[in-house]
Amino acid sequence: MHSAITGHTRLGCLLGSPVSHSISPMMYNEAFRLLGMDCVYLCFDTRNAEFGTLIHSLKDMNVFGFNLTMPDKERILEYLDELSPAARMIGAVNTVRHENGRLSGYNTDGIGYLRSLKDSGCSITDGPMTLIGAGGAASSIAIQAALDGAPRLHIVNRQGRSWPNALRLADTINAQTACQADVIALEDLTAVRLAIQESTLLTNATSVGMAPGTDCTPISDPSCFHAGLTVSDIIYNPRKTLLLSQAEAAGCRTFNGLYMLLYQGEAAFRIWTGQEMPTEQIRQRFFSA
Ligand code: NAP
Repeated sequence: MHSAITGHTRLGCLLGSPVSHSISPMMYNEAFRLLGMDCVYLCFDTRNAEFGTLIHSLKDMNVFGFNLTMPDKERILEYLDELSPAARMIGAVNTVRHENGRLSGYNTDGIGYLRSLKDSGCSITDGPMTLIGAGGAASSIAIQAALDGAPRLHIVNRQGRSWPNALRLADTINAQTACQADVIALEDLTAVRLAIQESTLLTNATSVGMAPGTDCTPISDPSCFHAGLTVSDIIYNPRKTLLLSQAEAAGCRTFNGLYMLLYQGEAAFRIWTGQEMPTEQIRQRFFSA
């Protein structure tokens, strides 16, 4: 942690609720320490905050920027002066840079996921992707995958709250990228099975399988898993979800959401500081398996 807060120390923070479990303060404060930067990063729970007043206060305090998590990723949009093209397509922001009174919004979740995919030895251009989920994280992954050259994307969601977002996502991708996207209901087991059979990548971007619900998996019948399929889960608690265990048993390559978390932070760090985060040291300190 910081040993010397000075009169010049710049502040960055995470906004959302809950935030106390976050490892972002450890990650960024260690990066600032390693690079000798006079900055500090804190978490602020926004549950009882008047959001607009909070954002104006952060500008008055001359923060260098902030991250947003649920439920603030969408409600920040109306306070921003600029939005990156990807964040505009996603419709949500997880990173804001503050410069000279102006707030610029970005979304680094998809960038983080795509970077962790590369680490696993796969490329998004290898073949079709089946993505389960259409919430905040899934939207970011879907848009980034399409922008980075995924040829085909099957977006799978139950016919619930996020179904309209799944349809909007597919429309946006089909209209604005070269990727061909479609939407499949999770309840349509035959269509889900066919999508997975033709895919080289299956990604769970729902909360199904996350602790404490570790006996749950979004795919009820893993018999459609095949050796040419890489299966990833953006959940990192537990490190190995039931989905990943099923995939391993079927001979698939697998990876979890731990490095997505690291790399979305690396991208945010670059946006705020223009410098590279000492990612390898941070990985060894906080992200070792
Ligand atoms: P979100 O916006 O609330 O979306 C949740 C998604 O899961 C929606 O598609 C939702 O569908 C679906 N879902 C929830 N319960 C379900 C169930 N019982 N059966 C089928 N589908 C279900 O949440 P989020 O922010 O995208 O986060 C999703 C997960 O990703 C969480 O576990 C979160 O911890 C993780 N995450 C990881 C990282 C990382 O860096 N590794 C980053 C962000 C998020 P409906 O809305 O239609 O119910």
